[in-house]
Amino acid sequence: MLSPPAGVRISFGELAKLLRDVFVSAGVLADHAAILGENCAQCERDGSLSHGIFRIPGYLASLRSGWVDGRAIPIVQQTGAAFLSVDARNGFAQPALAAARMQLTQMARDAGAAVLAIRDSHHFSALWPDTEPFAMDGFVAIAVVSGLACVAPSAGAKPLLGTNPIAFAAPVSGGNPLIFDQSTSMLSNGDLRIAAREGSTLSENAGVDRFGHPTADPRAILDGGALLPFGGYKGASIALMVEILAAALTGGQFAHQVDFSRHPGAETPRTGQLLIVIDPDRAHGGDAARRIAELLGTLRAGGVMRLPGDRRFEQRRQSDRDGIALVPDRLRELRAWAAAALSS
Ligand code: NDP
Repeated sequence: MLSPPAGVRISFGELAKLLRDVFVSAGVLADHAAILGENCAQCERDGSLSHGIFRIPGYLASLRSGWVDGRAIPIVQQTGAAFLSVDARNGFAQPALAAARMQLTQMARDAGAAVLAIRDSHHFSALWPDTEPFAMDGFVAIAVVSGLACVAPSAGAKPLLGTNPIAFAAPVSGGNPLIFDQSTSMLSNGDLRIAAREGSTLSENAGVDRFGHPTADPRAILDGGALLPFGGYKGASIALMVEILAAALTGGQFAHQVDFSRHPGAETPRTGQLLIVIDPDRAHGGDAARRIAELLGTLRAGGVMRLPGDRRFEQRRQSDRDGIALVPDRLRELRAWAAAALSS
């Protein structure tokens, strides 16, 4: 996790609008640009810096190369009583989720649980923005995405899996939802690239070099090596589960099938995403949110100093109070990219 940069401060609304204009300048449909701009601004606001404005050059390069279609209209199809299948048609995942959100929520209310399977989609952001709104509405939500093949299931194996994140969100009576959102690799690709740029050293079992030897050097991992799953073979199984849920069950590509060699500069993974939304009021007693609050209280009383989401909600509180800190050069860059749209 990066420290927030010192510099100029900008409100969430201003940043979301600026980013929307950047996406519009790159040819993205205005409605979709607003969704992506807000999503990216949320990451920056909450200190998810590996998926905030750091990602904008990658979004733009993917759009410029023709690898992703910023104007694709997703097609939502109901394939079961509580199963929605969305063809994102080579567009971004967030507009595809937005297109299905209302129907998915209604299905989860009616059936007690519902599944959303998005295929042919590009997810280049954090997952917590996808799950948090469901928990705010009282649901439990689980989201998984398959990524680019840069994770070797074990040392010596080929990098065939993505960093395959999984996010879990649950409502908590009287408080913020509990949300964790993590890659199933030792670290995310974004953090790997940031570590390489900054010359940092990683933990010992973070990855392997091009010869399959364990290394803590992020540059050696990027230079023909691979990341490793968290937690050895147990993490490898969870990464495999994500690959199966997000690709086999959606119809999206597996990480190892993604080939953007004909689109120089492209960075976004063209894969799939699966969401499971559960109505906890259907559980015995119908008081899951209260019981979760009690459980978290017990953990804190038992000495747990930090639960997932604590840092992020605190960062959000500070950003809402003081504005979002941006390096001046980055802000100038974003304004220049956005102005390109206004002048064209
Ligand atoms: P981190 O290791 O930074 O954090 C993982 C989770 O653990 C977060 O919920 C975090 O909460 C929590 N956490 C971190 N440290 C502690 C601690 N000491 N005690 C308790 N909880 C803690 O995440 P990753 O680097 O693995 O992933 C970063 C992001 O990358 C994720 O948002 C993920 O969705 C995204 N990603 C996206 C991909 C894509 O294809 N779109 C691919 C891979 C990753 P908190 O937020 O409060 O710090």
